[in-house]
Amino acid sequence: MAEISSIVTRFAPSPTGLLHAGNYRTAVFAYLFARKEGGKFVVRIEDTDKERSKKEYEENILESLQWLNLGYDILYRQSDNTKRHEELLNKLIAEDKAYVSKEEAGEGKRDEVIRFRNPGQQVSFEDMVRGTISFDTTELGDFVIARSASLPVFHFAVVVDDADEGVTHVIRGEDHISNTPRQILIAKALGFAIPIYVHLPLVLGGDRSKLSKRAGAKALTSYRDMGYLPEAMINYLALLGWHPEDEKELFTTEELVQAFTLDRVQKSAGTFDETKLRWFNREHIKRLSDYAFAERLEEYMKQMGEELPPYTATVIPLLKERSETLLQAMDALEEGEFDFLKPGFEAPGESLLLQGAMAEKGAVIRHFTALESLLGGLSDEEFTAEKVKETIFPYATEAGRAAVLWPMRVALSGKKKSPDPFTLAGLMGKEETLKRLQAALLVLKS
Ligand code: GLU
Repeated sequence: MAEISSIVTRFAPSPTGLLHAGNYRTAVFAYLFARKEGGKFVVRIEDTDKERSKKEYEENILESLQWLNLGYDILYRQSDNTKRHEELLNKLIAEDKAYVSKEEAGEGKRDEVIRFRNPGQQVSFEDMVRGTISFDTTELGDFVIARSASLPVFHFAVVVDDADEGVTHVIRGEDHISNTPRQILIAKALGFAIPIYVHLPLVLGGDRSKLSKRAGAKALTSYRDMGYLPEAMINYLALLGWHPEDEKELFTTEELVQAFTLDRVQKSAGTFDETKLRWFNREHIKRLSDYAFAERLEEYMKQMGEELPPYTATVIPLLKERSETLLQAMDALEEGEFDFLKPGFEAPGESLLLQGAMAEKGAVIRHFTALESLLGGLSDEEFTAEKVKETIFPYATEAGRAAVLWPMRVALSGKKKSPDPFTLAGLMGKEETLKRLQAALLVLKS
């Protein structure tokens, strides 16, 4: 961890809709940079637009940040600062840097607004992604900074709050570039230091259209519910608009913190692609220890109102190896794919045992007897799926795979459909495997 520094970043979402992946990408960058530099990460809910801000959106933002594990040092609401905004608006008015103006509000009504006395300068700033950006601010005229002394517009509140929190790096989407000159003018009038601006490229949807915060959009928490791991999501989001020095793609969040630098933020837009996200998720699942995977799955199932069946321990390695999401793993358990591991297994009937064997009963009896003696020769420790396969495959190839392996699989699973017989034997271990083969033999002989 870097030494304590004065770097402060912030994530400043407006709770006016469900945030999209691009918004959370901004949070990820601001978080990674603050952690990398040993600085502070501030979350500010910009709720000053009372009409459009909704509690449920705010809750979803906080829930999403919590799911992602993006710990913040400070959390507050912009509306907490109303007094401070008022104080500074009055200060600007007293210094004649702003003035109250009565204006036509339609239907013969007149409204008071507070306008900024724009000195009409050329404003330039160094954007860490885009380089030098210059605007002629004369055409903005005396822009509005508040609807009343207690109702500042977004530009004013952002500038005051950023300065009060000591924000050093304003990391946000590039759709805010055009707001920056106004905000710089306000900051200068208030005598504040100008922060460093880092405008991130857009994140596009799968159809290359701009993501938007419309109601009905997908909440980030829906990815949690679909069984994604937060570290996979962070890894994926971090690579939307940033790239490491090498070709490395898979990162833990800690590794991202180490590798992250702002000079590797790209200018070109990234595309949020669920297929790619799934790939990241699968890779992150594979990298969990069996124990950690079991824990995650248990936690996930609990949250979905389900319980991890007690016999699951045996299938954890297999589930981990093949699941792209926790949902997939849960479904396999729920759909009874591994029910054969439940205590109280009953041997399948003769017709099911012979159904896909394409062989006479007598032949299958002979094969089972051969399997018993081949597998009986393995020790308990050796009894893995691989070793079982190695041991019986030459025999099965010689005698006819369907005739040997189909009934063996059914004898072990009791089902028409199941994983292959080697996997099953490996999962059950020697004792249970032999017991089930013997039980099937009894069925065929009776
Ligand atoms: N509240 C603004 C938004 O949600 C962001 C403000 C900023 O980052 O400066 O778009």
